Amino acid sequence: MNQTIVIVGGGSAGWLTAAIIAAKHSAPVEGGPGTRVVLLESPDVANLGVGEGTWPTMRDTLRRIGISEVDFLRSCDASFKQGSEFVGWLRGQGESYYHPFSAPAGYPNINLAAHWQASATDSSFGDAVSPQGRVCDRGLAPKQPQSPEYAFSLNYGYHLNAGKFVELLQRHCVDKLGVDYQLGHVENIIAAENGDIEALRLASGETIGGDLFVDCTGFAAILIGKHYNIPFVSQQDFLFNDTALAVQAEYATEDAAIASHTKATARSAGWIWDIALPSRRGVGYVYSSAHTSTEKAEEELTAYIKADPNLADVQPSPRKIAFQPGHRQTFWHHNCVAVGVSAGFVEPLEASALILIEKSAEWISEQLPRDSAAMAVVAKRFNEITRQHWRAVIDFLKLHYVLSERTDTQYWRDHSDAASIPESLQESLSLWHTQVPWHFETNNRIELFSAVSLQYVLYGMEFVTDINDSRYRQWARDAKTASRLIHDTNVQAENFMATLPSNRDLLNRVHRK
Ligand SMILES: Cc1cc2nc3c(=O)[nH]c(=O)nc-3n(C[C@H](O)[C@H](O)[C@H](O)COP(=O)(O)OP(=O)(O)OC[C@H]3O[C@@H](n4cnc5c(N)ncnc54)[C@H](O)[C@@H]3O)c2cc1C
Repeated sequence: MNQTIVIVGGGSAGWLTAAIIAAKHSAPVEGGPGTRVVLLESPDVANLGVGEGTWPTMRDTLRRIGISEVDFLRSCDASFKQGSEFVGWLRGQGESYYHPFSAPAGYPNINLAAHWQASATDSSFGDAVSPQGRVCDRGLAPKQPQSPEYAFSLNYGYHLNAGKFVELLQRHCVDKLGVDYQLGHVENIIAAENGDIEALRLASGETIGGDLFVDCTGFAAILIGKHYNIPFVSQQDFLFNDTALAVQAEYATEDAAIASHTKATARSAGWIWDIALPSRRGVGYVYSSAHTSTEKAEEELTAYIKADPNLADVQPSPRKIAFQPGHRQTFWHHNCVAVGVSAGFVEPLEASALILIEKSAEWISEQLPRDSAAMAVVAKRFNEITRQHWRAVIDFLKLHYVLSERTDTQYWRDHSDAASIPESLQESLSLWHTQVPWHFETNNRIELFSAVSLQYVLYGMEFVTDINDSRYRQWARDAKTASRLIHDTNVQAENFMATLPSNRDLLNRVHRK
């Protein structure tokens, strides 16, 4: 098919979208040269340059676009991420739980959550059903040195340097995937009679035409926002955080441990992320400006960094990023589709941004419309599914807050106010009091967060589901299998703890190779 796709924006959204589409469509086809992918980036507007945690989906994405894992790890100062640890979210007293990337033992055939509740064991839910929390506690890697690229003992995504990731994607897109990279600042949009975008006029006076325009211009949202005026739907009534202070913190010593999970520590008006790369850590406080001041937030962030003996004792000078939590009402309008921050952004509590970019780009690439009639249908479907994704993201993030028992600051008290809980989440919570989340949570075939993620957060936060219900009698018949799985999980944990290398050791090997 001969068509031109113009992606505007050279941040991670732009380059990931370009790579995913070009990897599938840019090869010449019979009777034509194949799809032309153009990526246009302003020389005057910097990328966001943050976004360092991914989901395991990134392994598939990298493999699909043809990047070797070793190249990726070396070029992007990347490390392995096995999930997130949430510290102080329930009571604010240093307690913690994991949301690991490996599913509970026996998944998807057996739902261990009900059995775990029925057996009233002393183990936390996470430890009963997965060895991964214990592996993370010890700073171990998710795989053996001899494991093939992208293969694992325990499921993983990555921590990466966002700037270096963009550079790698750009090199790969231009050198290997035939993406036409152009520098130019879009100043005007030339509209066709039917309301489509016909071409973009650059500051240089040049025009660039295309069939489909992907808006990856971040907060500027020049196509979907400025040109089409698609309303922005704020989510600040549910998710209060609207400011981030980000720091790149140096290790105290060269051999300091590299955690293989993201640590998210609850603070007085938000939470601090802590992401370990081979050469440094990315640490930042994302908070609600209505609940604290920049000075107070900076104090809390500095105290966190200073209290960690693995970090160099340097006064941090954070970069401040303000954002409005929310998303567009519509994401695909005429021949323009928004991907990345231009489509929406909320606090990075579960690293939902890059996964949403991957899923959106994959969907666009699979469904790439041939003509304007197909475009209208595809656009309608994309909008439906993307709205569902955003609903899922907002409910899932809010879930981390509403189960908290913290009342120590106004921020935590406001988060438990029923008026701040989306109706869809209230409905789910009312069900989960008597039903363990399982395969029928959504009717979506493309899910961002499965029932497993809901379980890890719900039961990590000590939520109780009353399982005295007829539907669990069926599962009681699996009691023997369930006990065996929980027992085997313990054995597996011991085995992993005895055999997996430390994350630092494995990464040192990768970088030496
Ligand atoms: C504090 C913070 C922490 C985050 N942590 C995570 C995380 O751990 N995991 C995760 O998945 N996500 C995270 N994110 C989100 C992640 O950073 C973004 O999703 C990602 O960087 C994608 O950004 P983008 O490409 O949409 O926009 P940007 O990086 O802002 O890129 C915009 C591009 O548009 C171009 N542009 C703008 N205007 C024009 C114009 N007129 N003409 C031409 N080009 C133009 C710019 O030059 C630039 O290339 C985080 C975000 C923040 C703020």
